[in-house]
Amino acid sequence: VLQLPLANNSVRLSEIFRSVQGEGPQAGRPCTFLRLAICNLRCSYCDTKYTWDFSRYSYEAEVRELTLEALLAELLAEPLAHLVLTGGEPLLQGQALLALLQRLPKEVFVEVETNGTLPPTAGLLARVSQWNVSPKLENSHEPEHRRLKREVLAQFADLGNAWLKLVVGGEEDAKEASELALSLGWPPSRVLLMPEASSRKELAARSSAVAQLAARRGFGFSSRLHLTLFDGARAT
Ligand code: SF4
Repeated sequence: VLQLPLANNSVRLSEIFRSVQGEGPQAGRPCTFLRLAICNLRCSYCDTKYTWDFSRYSYEAEVRELTLEALLAELLAEPLAHLVLTGGEPLLQGQALLALLQRLPKEVFVEVETNGTLPPTAGLLARVSQWNVSPKLENSHEPEHRRLKREVLAQFADLGNAWLKLVVGGEEDAKEASELALSLGWPPSRVLLMPEASSRKELAARSSAVAQLAARRGFGFSSRLHLTLFDGARAT
């Protein structure tokens, strides 16, 4: 039921916060984050379970159902130059998000973080500046038929503004990530390996090995700057 869109283009929102982008090619840039609630996957290492795991978290406490008008007012209350749509899985609410993006100034740079299981609409493709596509590997403990939608990933691979960002813990994961990137024909220059970590300590312990695994394959390395800076503390 929660995966059904709300009426009147309202959105299920987890949080809005301003920070620096922690991952991917725009890391370090100041951004406004719009974290949408609800996800269609259940990754074991998910660090935002409060957006979807309502057996552990309270939907009433964690999720706001907001009209586009109310959301726009919050977003535009402060200067907005760079917006990151994340989640959860934001494309579950793609229709409402497109309506939102169409009402933002055209100069706003829009990044979308997606797990790559849902196809983007033509409207979103025309407006989104950069896609960060992060399909899940075996280390997510999600069954393959749920986490990998190859036809969707192939569509993203063809875009010049889509980056493949894969969470890896070590050699085996890097091998799996590499096979996936190659099978999709994703240009290595737009593939990033990112360490699996949920704390500053774990990130520090894994970063150099993952950077080397990436470099050996001609991929880039993405850190998780928010862990270095905030050590996994939740944004408010
Ligand atoms: S796809 Fe992302 S938000 Fe959804 S469960 Fe996996 S890590 Fe969490």
